[in-house]
Amino acid sequence: MTYDTAIPAAAALLKRDTAISQPAFDGRMYIGGTWVESADERRFERRSPAHGHVVSTFPEATAADVERAIEAADAAFRRGPWPKLKGAERARMLLAVADGIKKRVEPMSLLESLETGKPLAQARGEVSGCVDLWLYAASLARTTSGDAYDTLGEDMLGIVLRQPIGVVGLITPWNFPLWILSQKLPFALAAGCTCVVKPSELTSGTTVMLMEILEEAGVPAGAVNVVTGKGPSVGQPLAEHDAIDMLSFTGSTRVGSLLGGLASAKLKKVALELGGKNPQIVFPDCDWDAMIDAVVFGVYFNAGECCNSGSRVLVHESIAERFALDVVERARQVPVGDPLHPDCKVGAIVSENQLGEILGNVEKGVAAGARLRLGGKRYDAQGLYLEPTIISDVRPDMSIAREEIFGPVLVIIPFSDASHAIEIANDTAYGLSAAVWSKDIDTCLTVARGVDAGTVWVNTFLDGYPELPFGGFKSSGVGRELGKQAVEDYTETKTIQLHIGARNNWWLPRPAA
Ligand code: NAD
Repeated sequence: MTYDTAIPAAAALLKRDTAISQPAFDGRMYIGGTWVESADERRFERRSPAHGHVVSTFPEATAADVERAIEAADAAFRRGPWPKLKGAERARMLLAVADGIKKRVEPMSLLESLETGKPLAQARGEVSGCVDLWLYAASLARTTSGDAYDTLGEDMLGIVLRQPIGVVGLITPWNFPLWILSQKLPFALAAGCTCVVKPSELTSGTTVMLMEILEEAGVPAGAVNVVTGKGPSVGQPLAEHDAIDMLSFTGSTRVGSLLGGLASAKLKKVALELGGKNPQIVFPDCDWDAMIDAVVFGVYFNAGECCNSGSRVLVHESIAERFALDVVERARQVPVGDPLHPDCKVGAIVSENQLGEILGNVEKGVAAGARLRLGGKRYDAQGLYLEPTIISDVRPDMSIAREEIFGPVLVIIPFSDASHAIEIANDTAYGLSAAVWSKDIDTCLTVARGVDAGTVWVNTFLDGYPELPFGGFKSSGVGRELGKQAVEDYTETKTIQLHIGARNNWWLPRPAA
């Protein structure tokens, strides 16, 4: 596939090209309502993993820049106006942001596709989907409230206020850059918090574009600030700085546990969305075609670079061989290639480093005795492309059965009955999501109740709605995003006790004799 077969706008963007000195998108940081370069004017660049072109450049924030961003958010929180606005006013601005995203679906999707390597068509779906997250958060900005107790006796009224927690540090990964930011930022803003955002250094483009939309929507200076650059130098201060009240992190379990530890030691509130090793559990009585399609979708969507990837399939032993043959047959037909091609379903792997890690995991599995049924290598083409990979005869104790691979690699593990399937499903450190495939309601409910997972899909996979909470058990995270409590997570409660009438004294001195 060539750029010529891609959509014309994309082809034009990439052909501008070859001029690495003329990158497609020059982002700046957004601090205190001003667009700024880094203090030492250094910048870093992002090359499209599919094409090798420079597609964006960003300032490399210094410690002083991060400090300025935190100060701006802190000042905007202490002095306002954002936390002091009416819910209705905050909602109006969040609705305006939703509108702004809707108008920019094309440029945002294109940059998302170029930076991540994901199919452009998929990026369009994600960017459009973000609109709904902002709309939902806007509805919560007006409806989230505290509580009142008129049940405490004649002389007491209890009021529970929900107040914004303060300044929130938001750190996001590279796999769904705008989507994951939209699972956090509008809800923190709806609560009245101010924020400092640090996107992944691989995919900062749409986060910076979003700031243009926030500015147009009238979100006041300092309410949201963006700093770009590497994790340890730019992200870590958001976990440790005294002026940060809460850390909301999505990324790997390794970094999440490091940052969660640093933030907790400073007694900050911590929300973590981390890795997964999500089982799809297949029983012989399922709708076979629907299941095979969902298994292939579940593991190859976003090239498997998805926290929710259905990377483990537990199959009843009586159908394990038929399953392996059918899933291999279907996986062979998955269109892998240039993310800009309209037919592409699986694009490029995000980086050479990630590609090497995926292949290393496959090698480890094969060395441990598992059977490579499909793929397991790079395509002989320019760009970071991996063949859809399937490995069978996997034992639950092998590292490929337990560790997150974060690539287009499916492992197949047989089980004997429902309780055995639940035992294998729960025998990892993770607990993000799971699926069960069966026509038998008892089987579905038994498995759904038994697996350690924040989300369980029954006869479907990877559906999601802003109304439904999302997050993980065990090492997959701490807390939940989305759902009607999403705004509450960015608040503190304050109890107010109002005494009515004369108060009984605890002790009164006796009148002198
Ligand atoms: P990562 O942990 O390497 O990086 C995530 C973010 O943390 C990036 O912005 C990065 O710059 C920053 N970072 C890295 N090291 C840091 C440090 N020492 N101090 C401060 N910040 C640091 O993760 P990734 O590779 O970008 O993303 C992939 C991971 O994210 C996978 O493990 C995936 O499962 C997980 N993820 C989880 C969810 C979820 O909702 N549960 C969603 C998407 C991705």
